[in-house]
Amino acid sequence: MDYKSLFTEISILLKAMDDRGEVASYIPELGKVDPGSFAMHLTSVENLGFGLGAMDERFSIQSIAKVLSLAVAFDLEDDRLWRRVGVEPLGSPFNSLVQLEYENGIPRNPLINAGALVVCDILVSRLEHPERDFIAFVRKLAGNPDIDYSPRISASEKRTGFRNAALVNLMKAYGNIENDADTVLNVYLNLCSIEMSCRELAQAFLFLAAGGVNPLTGERVVSVSKSKRINAIMLLCGFYDEAGEFAFKVGLPVKSGVGGGIIAIHPGNYSVAIWSPRLNEKGNSYRGMKILEFMTTWTQSSIF
Ligand code: GLN
Repeated sequence: MDYKSLFTEISILLKAMDDRGEVASYIPELGKVDPGSFAMHLTSVENLGFGLGAMDERFSIQSIAKVLSLAVAFDLEDDRLWRRVGVEPLGSPFNSLVQLEYENGIPRNPLINAGALVVCDILVSRLEHPERDFIAFVRKLAGNPDIDYSPRISASEKRTGFRNAALVNLMKAYGNIENDADTVLNVYLNLCSIEMSCRELAQAFLFLAAGGVNPLTGERVVSVSKSKRINAIMLLCGFYDEAGEFAFKVGLPVKSGVGGGIIAIHPGNYSVAIWSPRLNEKGNSYRGMKILEFMTTWTQSSIF
C-alpha cells in the first residue's frame, strides 16, 4: 500500500474538512481538552510508521482500553469468558442499563461499559495486582515504560460516574460480579483514564493486525484464533450504536473512546489511531470517522 501518498491526500483533505460536534464533558476533565486537537498515526505490520498532527501528544484513551482488557481476560479465561458476557452488538448507548435487566445481568459484549466491568472483575479475581499488571501489559505492547493512568481523569469520573456504579451494582445483584463492586468500578475507571498518544496506540494494537504477535518484540500476545475473534467483536461492537454505519462506510475492526480517540485495524496490514475530540451524537469522533472512510475508499482496501 502506498501509505506516503495516502497521508499526503489525508493532509489535503483535513485542511478542507469541517469539524462538528462537542467534546465529551460528562467527565468534567475531558471537557478541558482543546476541541481542535488532531493527531493520526498508522503503523504497518512491517513496522513502518506514518503520522500527522500531534501524534506524540497523549490523550485519554477511555473505552479504547476495553479491547486491551478483553485481550488479557480472554487469554486468562478462554471460552469460559463467554458464560459471563456475550458477543452481540447492543444497538443502545454504551452506558445503557435496560438490556442488563432483561438479560439477567449478562452484558451483550465486552466493549460496552457493563461488559468491560465484567472483564475488570475477572482481572481483579485473576491478577495479583490488577492495575499494576495491566499497565505493565500496555507499556510492553506500546514499547514505552512511562505510559500511565491519569489520577486526575479517574478522580473526575469517580465524582460523576453514577451510571457505571449502577451497572456494576445491578450485575452484582444478578451474581455476575464476584468481587466488591467498588473495587471493580475503581479498576474500570483507572483503565479508562490511561493516556496514550496516537503513535503509542497504533503500536500497542499492532498485534491485532499481526495474528496476535507483537511485532515489536516477536512475542505472542494472544492466539491466532483469539486475535481473529477480538477483531470480530471490534467490527460488530466497537463503535457503539453506530457500528453498522462504520462497517458500512469504513469496513475495519475499530474501537472508539469518548476522549475522541479511535483505533482501527486492517488485519494483515496495519493499525491506525486518530484523535480528534469533537464527537458526533453517538459519541464517536466526527473527523476520525470521516478520515477513516476516506482512507479505505482511497486505498480501495477494507476487510471486505
Ligand atoms: N469512562 C467512560 C465511561 O465509562 C468510557 C466511555 C467511552 O469511552 N465510551 O463512561
